[in-house]
Amino acid sequence: MLFSKSFIPILKNNPSEAVIKSHQLMLRVGMIKQSSAGIYSWLPLGFKIMKKIEQIVREEQNRIGVQEILMPTIQSSEIWKESGRYEDYGEEMLRIKDRQSREMLYGPTNEELITDIFRSSIKSYKSLPQLLYHIQWKFRDELRPRFGIMRCREFFMKDAYSFDLSDDDAKFSYNKFFLSYLRTFKRLKLSAIPMAADTGPIGGNLSHEFIILAETGESKIYTDKRIFEVNSEKTELNKKSLINLREKYEKYYAVTDEKFNKNDFETNVPEEFRLSTKGIEVGHIFYFGDKYSKPMNASVDYKGKKEFVKMGSYGVGVSRLVGAIIEAKYDDKNEIMNWPISISPYECAIIPLINKNDNSNLEKALNIYKYLNEMNIDTIIDDTEENFSSKIKKFNLIGIPFQIKIGKKSEGNLYEFSEIGEETKNLSVEDIVKIIINKKKIN
Ligand code: ATP
Ligand code: MG
Repeated sequence: MLFSKSFIPILKNNPSEAVIKSHQLMLRVGMIKQSSAGIYSWLPLGFKIMKKIEQIVREEQNRIGVQEILMPTIQSSEIWKESGRYEDYGEEMLRIKDRQSREMLYGPTNEELITDIFRSSIKSYKSLPQLLYHIQWKFRDELRPRFGIMRCREFFMKDAYSFDLSDDDAKFSYNKFFLSYLRTFKRLKLSAIPMAADTGPIGGNLSHEFIILAETGESKIYTDKRIFEVNSEKTELNKKSLINLREKYEKYYAVTDEKFNKNDFETNVPEEFRLSTKGIEVGHIFYFGDKYSKPMNASVDYKGKKEFVKMGSYGVGVSRLVGAIIEAKYDDKNEIMNWPISISPYECAIIPLINKNDNSNLEKALNIYKYLNEMNIDTIIDDTEENFSSKIKKFNLIGIPFQIKIGKKSEGNLYEFSEIGEETKNLSVEDIVKIIINKKKIN
């Protein structure tokens, strides 16, 4: 991409309407544009990042055997009346009438719709478990949309649903998602901790929120610091290994404020390990048995008997993750954004020093650009006449992980190369490519 032809509307200063760093940065480097309260358009830079996050979320769902589908954003009110949630959901639900005066709604979540899809086709216990997911826009008419895309009204979410015959099988499905979420957030270089949570309007009694620590988060949490040491690396996708993983986490107190009990906290956690702080909820998993299958009559035949299926649902805030990663990785003081390379908007930036009457650096830059493209390195080249140091600042702010500078310090076939925020070295293009490809492999 040539910077001069890109749609990356950079602002000189932080916009005054944004109070947290992710919102500031996203507006500052032109990742999003607000269209109305809590509703945003995603511009090329922001959209690229979100799509890469979506792909990682997708791969980790596929890895545990969940099948991808796509449900619509607009739903009929009928199924919500069947489950009894049409009234309960209240004002967060955006209700619409079509030209025949039928009551429709913009889906805030999909338990009803998926249950309807399930019951229309699955009749025998032999088809279980069924694990399905989709990645789709949701709408919730939040009381206080704020912090940019962190709490907005229209947002992009991965939601999965599981259907099982017994309680025990359903918990196995739940635990698969538990592992899948740990793997997903790890790939995004986030330390997300599963915390026992309240189930709210989704229902049920088993639930975990996956939370990353951040001062600007809206969830209050209480935990034992030792939980950060638990790892899921050797976990396998069988019942025993997954139960073992859950137990490793459950050894430590970790709850959101709805589940907080001062006495339990102080009895279970030695003082030096107590942590009460704030975090951002990036994922939420629920087990709710037959809460929907019973009223909606979703059952299977099990040896001549009718059994209501046991269900769970599993959400990841794909669009919220963009902001959450910024909150976790942005170095506000030095104005450097550290995107993990697997989701960075571009992998490498080529920054030539360009004078009005000397095109030679730009020509060199274009040659390197061509070569990097052939090597499958997604590259942006700054072909503008902007001042050299402000170009470098700009790519630090956007957060391109590798930079090749072609300025006064480049000699012959050696160019100034640096990983973002690190020292610069003079290297050949071949060596630069090796470093980038290696880094991509291990990430
Ligand atoms: P919250 O407690 O933040 O309101 P929730 O419990 O209502 O979230 P879920 O129904 O569990 O959310 O939705 C799954 C995921 O979708 C959440 O973990 C979060 O990452 C994301 N999400 C929920 N509401 C919003 C929103 N208004 N804007 C952006 N992302 C959201
Ligand atoms: Mg929640």
